[in-house]
Amino acid sequence: MSKRDYYEILGVSKGATDAELKKAYRSLARKYHPDVNPGNEEAEAKFKEVQEAYDVLSDAQKRQRYDQFGHAGMDGQGFGGGQGFGGQGFDGFEDIFDMFFGGGGGGRRSQGPRRGSDLQMNMEITFEEAAFGVEKEVEVSRNEHCDRCDGSGAEPGTEPETCSECNGTGKQNVIQNTPFGRFQSTRTCQQCQGRGKTIKSRCGDCAGTGKVRKKKKMNIKVPAGVDTGSNLHIAGQGEAGALGGPPGDLYVVIHVRPHEKFKREGNDVICEIPISFVEAALGAEIQVPTLDGKVKLKIKEGVQTGTYFRIKGKGIPRLQGYGRGDQHVKVVVVTPTNLNEKQKEILRQFGESCGKKNMEYKDKEKGFFEKMRDAFMG
Ligand SMILES: [Zn+2]
Ligand SMILES: [Zn+2]
Repeated sequence: MSKRDYYEILGVSKGATDAELKKAYRSLARKYHPDVNPGNEEAEAKFKEVQEAYDVLSDAQKRQRYDQFGHAGMDGQGFGGGQGFGGQGFDGFEDIFDMFFGGGGGGRRSQGPRRGSDLQMNMEITFEEAAFGVEKEVEVSRNEHCDRCDGSGAEPGTEPETCSECNGTGKQNVIQNTPFGRFQSTRTCQQCQGRGKTIKSRCGDCAGTGKVRKKKKMNIKVPAGVDTGSNLHIAGQGEAGALGGPPGDLYVVIHVRPHEKFKREGNDVICEIPISFVEAALGAEIQVPTLDGKVKLKIKEGVQTGTYFRIKGKGIPRLQGYGRGDQHVKVVVVTPTNLNEKQKEILRQFGESCGKKNMEYKDKEKGFFEKMRDAFMG
């Protein structure tokens, strides 16, 4: 089996800088990491290949030898059979942590426990569910504590070892000789990234991260009165923490499906009801759909199209606080169509009998939106 060229695997040129290598490696490792591709053997093989290529090319000596002799130069160096994992000097460890557990902006990390990342998911609900609340089962894909290694990242039977570089302190003293003298400073240990421990033999389930990708089902209580854009905060249901740190939180963003009859304005419900022009002229009692079923609404005689009627307390319950909004019913007068000759004759007679006083149109019945506009515009 011929091995692929390491540069080709990472998709970089022979002259790639360390930064370019690291960038290519991070993006490929993220793509093929077993956490992201559970049970996918091809991805796992690719991940190991990428790991191996980066292990060699990120080490100046190994890279030089590889450039000179190709894969042959690597034989006997522990990179032969594509074992990659478990080889020493796993430079990518910090990167893997950063990628999946939110290293906090890529800065230096302390040795202590770290809180898991927050998760966000979307939930679509109906108009009625938003109004009255609902409990829904969701499935969240997240990183959880690895049971096989109990989160240590070390293969069962082995232990994370105290870092030989820093003796477990997570810090290194660095002495620099400069023209101005000798300076000593402390920095995070490069070998263990400040953890104080190194893992020689990585857990097979979690690839040394101490976390495994799992799907978790849970019930989410959506309170009455939510609207599109409402963000439910569920504490402690995000990604698992690292090194014994607490888990992150879960945020559920609500999307309300449009309703065929109702529109929403804050906590008020708005609907349109067609009435015949006879009903409009003579007055009527009509049936109006509400969130609580049909209710009767009295239309007084002589009502004009576009008039709003208010039904108190049939709106949306207030998310914070008590009570409900109102329902506003806009009546739309329907002009009759498909009249037969007899009906037309009656209307002609009716028309002739009408005088000016039958055509009074007063602007006193302002619509809901006009009233709102007046209120805001002063
Ligand atoms: Zn594990
Ligand atoms: Zn160390």
